[in-house]
Amino acid sequence: MEHALREDIVRHCRFLHQRGYLAANDGNVSVRLDAKRLLVTPSGVHKGFLEPDDLVMVDLRGKKLSGKGQPTGELSLHLRTLAQRPDMSAVVHAHPPVAIAMSLTKRRLDGILPEVTLSLGKLQVVPYARPLSDQLARNVAHALSHFNAAILERHGTVALGRTVAEAYGLTERVEHASQVLWSAYAVSTPKPVPAKEHRALLRMYEESR
Ligand SMILES: [Zn+2]
Repeated sequence: MEHALREDIVRHCRFLHQRGYLAANDGNVSVRLDAKRLLVTPSGVHKGFLEPDDLVMVDLRGKKLSGKGQPTGELSLHLRTLAQRPDMSAVVHAHPPVAIAMSLTKRRLDGILPEVTLSLGKLQVVPYARPLSDQLARNVAHALSHFNAAILERHGTVALGRTVAEAYGLTERVEHASQVLWSAYAVSTPKPVPAKEHRALLRMYEESR
């Protein structure tokens, strides 16, 4: 079980790196090992070259239990978010470039792409807070108290899943949606889905949770 989870994190960190969703040591991933422990990525390790033994085990207060390195500097973001979502087991934080770029434009993102509403509910942007700060962890926990993914203003993305693969998949969705919206805004202003249809899509999302 533990070995499989370690492999799972490493595999998805490689995907994140290969797809350009983070650079070098950026980003971090966590997964619940059991009711009292998490496996998290270490700080200062390149995600493209991460190995299963590099992961750090911590308790739910963030105390290191085992591992060579130190846990990610964004550990409080992972702990806070998972603490309020017992239905979720994994957090993926990455720096996908188009999602970050869209967060700088302050353009409308939500309610334009129906498939995004069906898969994410809301394409939300968490207001800026300094990286590694408690304020960022609080903002993210608030945004993810109901929905499972968000763009962090000027910074990146964060996504929740029952598995690392699910959280990774939502990260892909957010970046893909950002790419589509970026392309649309480059030539025109995309029209939102009509309000009544948007409400129907949101109801479908809620019913599928
Ligand atoms: Zn970051």
